[in-house]
Amino acid sequence: MDAAQAIAGDVLEATVIYLEKARVAVNGACRGFEGWQIILIAAGVTLLVTRLYNWLDHPRLTIRQRVVHNFWSFLKGLPIIRGKVKAELAKNVQKIGEEMYPTKEGDHFLNRLPADGISSDEIFKRLEQYKTATFADWKGGKVSGCVYGGTEELSTLCAKVYHDFAWTNPLHPDVFPEVRRMEAEVVSMSLKLFHGGPNSGGTMTSGGTESILLAMQTYRDIAWEKGIDRPEIIAAVSAHAAFNKASHYFGIRLILVPNDPKTHTLDVRAMKKKISKNTCCLVASAPSFPYGLLDDIEAVSKLGERYNVPVHVDACLGGFLIPFMEKAGFPLPPFDFRLPGVTSISADTHKYGYAPKGSSVILYKDKETRNFQFFVAGSWSGGIYATPTMAGSRPGALIAGCWATMMYFGERGYVSTTRRIIAETRYITQQLRKIKDIYVFGDPLISVVAVGSDKFDVFRAFAALGKKGWNLNSLQFPASFHLCVTQRQTRTVSDQFIKDVRDCVKEVMKDPGKKAEGAAALYGTAQAIPDRSIITEMARGYLAACYNTAMGESNGVSH
Ligand SMILES: *Cc1c(COP(=O)(O)O)cnc(C)c1O
Repeated sequence: MDAAQAIAGDVLEATVIYLEKARVAVNGACRGFEGWQIILIAAGVTLLVTRLYNWLDHPRLTIRQRVVHNFWSFLKGLPIIRGKVKAELAKNVQKIGEEMYPTKEGDHFLNRLPADGISSDEIFKRLEQYKTATFADWKGGKVSGCVYGGTEELSTLCAKVYHDFAWTNPLHPDVFPEVRRMEAEVVSMSLKLFHGGPNSGGTMTSGGTESILLAMQTYRDIAWEKGIDRPEIIAAVSAHAAFNKASHYFGIRLILVPNDPKTHTLDVRAMKKKISKNTCCLVASAPSFPYGLLDDIEAVSKLGERYNVPVHVDACLGGFLIPFMEKAGFPLPPFDFRLPGVTSISADTHKYGYAPKGSSVILYKDKETRNFQFFVAGSWSGGIYATPTMAGSRPGALIAGCWATMMYFGERGYVSTTRRIIAETRYITQQLRKIKDIYVFGDPLISVVAVGSDKFDVFRAFAALGKKGWNLNSLQFPASFHLCVTQRQTRTVSDQFIKDVRDCVKEVMKDPGKKAEGAAALYGTAQAIPDRSIITEMARGYLAACYNTAMGESNGVSH
């Protein structure tokens, strides 16, 4: 006791001496300055320090990302470079525009309302003209993914449903209770597929992106509630770009971890290393969009449990395939709410649920989590405003169309389409593996098979396949492409695809060192550009070109 007191006394004495010394030193340093100077310098330094602190503490981007960005911005800002970059971009955008809407003789863009409304006949005539502008034969099975079902009978059913529900809006449940009921039933039926419990809940959304955005906003808000100011999401590089979008929109930092180089799925150990007190969510894909491969969801679920972090399973693509695979004779490792760590799942009804475009579900293991998704503006002068998702008004017809599609298929219908699609994908994979000089990514168990090559620039084969009418998905890092098998690919289509791949590879291998040309070359070089902001500008140019109706002479509708 005495010893402790003595030590405390010594410490106190030493502190007083140091403070005294510091006081003398500071006063000494200030000697020669006037009072106003000292105030100004102090204020200036404070300002600088807070500035620096704020800069270091960016909600979304890491210091490295911002240093790189600033470096390129600086370079591009230099007068000689600025001119060149601008001219080059403008040239590219112009070219993209011309390719997008090749103007036909006598075809004019509309840029104002027709003075008088036109008849239904005229409208359909004009629509017919617009339709012929497409080259991709999705009905014939030459398009990867994109239209997953689209059978004639289902189109007729959905058109009738649309007719009956076109003006409905779940924003007004008192006016359209039947739409709210259908939404609730779609959610319940989906929850059952993923083994949700009695306390599970969800909502319908406009698509996979909105489902993911909402889940990420939910986890950000839960993190905020816990006092985490700077929440972080951890995902694999092959997770869908919707997670980048969530990061961008909601100011959440996205930490991307690499894939395992052998399996091409999320490297769970790399994910574990990135978990910190700021982690608000772990993401796993079932399967990932680029390679169609299932992440080790069991392992991610364990991480989530161990570190008490929510786990989101992105089953947007496979959501309405994987729950039926066991019954279809292709069992998978567990991926759903049966895993204790999995807290939410996104699944797209408008992909393998075959519903018309514009619907998806976001499901939560616990309704308490879903509460964070519900938005309320309680003091709005327009009344207490509460919505379950991002939109205000929502198309009730799409909810009805989704509901009708699910009823039309039933479990047996989904099991049988799943069986056929998986069998077709396995067949294609097996045949592709026999082709020399290309390789298949990992072990594709679901509906996507991705192809790469160590021998030649794979975009050359991609381009050659394009010339044969195949509309595939090109992938980068590494350069590759994939085919996403849907109801449109019959065995005849698959055999044609295999034959075309074999022929294209053979042709390309006559001169394996040659570089890709045209659009394929552009895609290849895009990967090699270190300044990703150039890609941003080019892609924005592309999007702008989509809206460019100034090409060709514009006028109203001519009769
Ligand atoms: C398609 C897809 C999404 C996004 O869905 P959208 O409906 O296009 O918004 C998200 N994740 C995966 C794995 C997907 O395949």
